[in-house]
Amino acid sequence: MQHIKPIHVVGGGLAGSEAAWQIASAGVPVVLHEMRPVQSTDAHRTDRLAELVCSNSFRSDDWEYNAVGLLHEEMRRAGSLIMASGDVHKLPAGGALAVDRDAFAEEVTRRLSDHPLITIERTEVAGLPPHEWESVVVATGPLTSAALSSAIGELTGEADLAFFDAIAPVIHRDSVDTTIAWFQSRYDKAGPAGTGADYLNCPMNREEYEAFIDALIAGEKTSFKEWEASTPYFDGCLPIEVMAERGRDTLRYGPMKPVGLDDPRTGRWPYAVVQLRQDNALGTLWNMVGFQTKLKHAEQVRIFRMIPGLQDAEFARLGGLHRNTFLNSPKLLDAALRLKAAPHLRFAGQITGVEGYVESAAIGLLAGRFAAAERRGHPCPPPPNTTALGALIGHITGGHITADDDDSGARSFQPMNINYGLLPDIEKPSTDADGKRLKGKERGRARKRAVSVRALADIDAWLAEVSLPASA
Ligand SMILES: Cc1cc2nc3c(=O)[nH]c(=O)nc-3n(C[C@H](O)[C@H](O)[C@H](O)COP(=O)(O)OP(=O)(O)OC[C@H]3O[C@@H](n4cnc5c(N)ncnc54)[C@H](O)[C@@H]3O)c2cc1C
Repeated sequence: MQHIKPIHVVGGGLAGSEAAWQIASAGVPVVLHEMRPVQSTDAHRTDRLAELVCSNSFRSDDWEYNAVGLLHEEMRRAGSLIMASGDVHKLPAGGALAVDRDAFAEEVTRRLSDHPLITIERTEVAGLPPHEWESVVVATGPLTSAALSSAIGELTGEADLAFFDAIAPVIHRDSVDTTIAWFQSRYDKAGPAGTGADYLNCPMNREEYEAFIDALIAGEKTSFKEWEASTPYFDGCLPIEVMAERGRDTLRYGPMKPVGLDDPRTGRWPYAVVQLRQDNALGTLWNMVGFQTKLKHAEQVRIFRMIPGLQDAEFARLGGLHRNTFLNSPKLLDAALRLKAAPHLRFAGQITGVEGYVESAAIGLLAGRFAAAERRGHPCPPPPNTTALGALIGHITGGHITADDDDSGARSFQPMNINYGLLPDIEKPSTDADGKRLKGKERGRARKRAVSVRALADIDAWLAEVSLPASA
């Protein structure tokens, strides 16, 4: 094989790890620059690559009826390192794919370290990458170090790169009162690694719920610093107290919804429920599902112990607020994720304006494939927009309609999870496989399945089209 110059990947998180793997798998050498443990972020705790900073869930694994499940499946077919490592270390979590975070990150780190074409350098890239690097994938994530984010800001002319995310608390399992809380997945759904009894459910009656909402609204919150005050939240990651302020029933229809959960003490669905999901393989730590918060730590302990079953809860980690960083990608990036102003710089992961572990890794997968194909002189068009991968990249590089010049001065491009709304519609099937006529909701479900089936056929065709010959 002729000598090929390396591609530099900056940031060894979900996106950077996946990008490095894809590049090396295409026969191109990679230098992966990760600043931890020399320098850490506000949310990371270890020196492992692909560390999960909050929840341990990759969300639904159902490719037929759920868009993120579909994205999982497409990534598996594209040889994703993140999906392969997640599959090896999955935990029971109903219909979701949850992973043992330590074993998962260890697996990713080991596979990358063992790859003969990958060199890992533990250094902060504290400014724009040097010109001699020629081809770079920047995947430094929502907590990009200050030196690099201000250099990117200067290069792109984007002063406004930051917003906020909040993280949920984790509880020691043996401090949960299981005479009140019970194990059950919603509607007993077993999912990829579950038993149908994977969540610990803490029930509330009406009075308990109302008192809890009052406490959330009155609870003391972390105060914003001056520059943080006007930073908007991403709607998919709202703190619970902000949801409570939006309406007294908002939580009951959101993270605290009781449907499909039968309290064994009453035989009925409770008025509201708080769900805990297993967070480590040992089963000793459980996280509060959807309970991101910016309440002060002492307030979290006081208020969350009002939840029946959690009156003696011991917290392994409390919730918190963190900065996020993302580009105005529809304006700044081309269809191959290159910065229009400096095409040797390619971006991947959350910094491109996708949201979530899986989505970040998915954009890393594409950036890695684009960079490797370019290095080897082969064309690599983006996947068609009928696929989840194609729809996601389409959203950040062109699909979103920008309204950046409106009077408010706010930019309209916001981080996005994968969802069926990003994929082109398909005619709703009117009959099922046996020719039986479908009604109302059944047709909506059948439509999702039809979109997913089309997506998998199209991703297979794309993968066949862009696969590189074995040697350069
Ligand atoms: C606090 C918080 C909680 C979140 N919770 C969830 C959640 O529960 N579920 C979910 O799906 N998504 C969550 N997200 C959103 C997002 O999906 C994750 O942050 C995801 O890890 C993003 O992947 P990434 O590869 O883009 O960035 P990361 O995984 O953060 O990786 C970026 C890497 O770059 C390194 N780095 C940064 N700057 C430099 C530099 N200058 N030089 C070298 N290395 C550098 C960092 O150390 C890090 O390892 C959360 C985000 C935050 C901030």
